[in-house]
Amino acid sequence: MDIKAAEKKLRDKLAEEVNRLESIEQRLRGTHSASFGEQAIEREGDEVDERMEETVIREIEMIKVALDRIEAGNYQTCTSCGGDISEARLVALPYTTVCIACAV
Ligand SMILES: [Zn+2]
Repeated sequence: MDIKAAEKKLRDKLAEEVNRLESIEQRLRGTHSASFGEQAIEREGDEVDERMEETVIREIEMIKVALDRIEAGNYQTCTSCGGDISEARLVALPYTTVCIACAV
């Protein structure tokens, strides 16, 4: 499998997710409007942003783990059984750490 291409894809995705996280955090830290009605609407938006923030943070963690695995040379090695993770599986799930047999 083309590890270099996989790594590039992961790095691009990481940069994208970091940007997304920054804009979410900027929105969450933004100053709130004065009127009570507008504040209620903004708070609802904040809840959505907070959930999105958690998802993005989790995704960033998974990408970092995958990049660490590439660096360590065990990207294609299943953490559970030590066997190979198939290329098709890694293309479909670039952050997976287990082979198909261990995933079920
Ligand atoms: Zn396995």
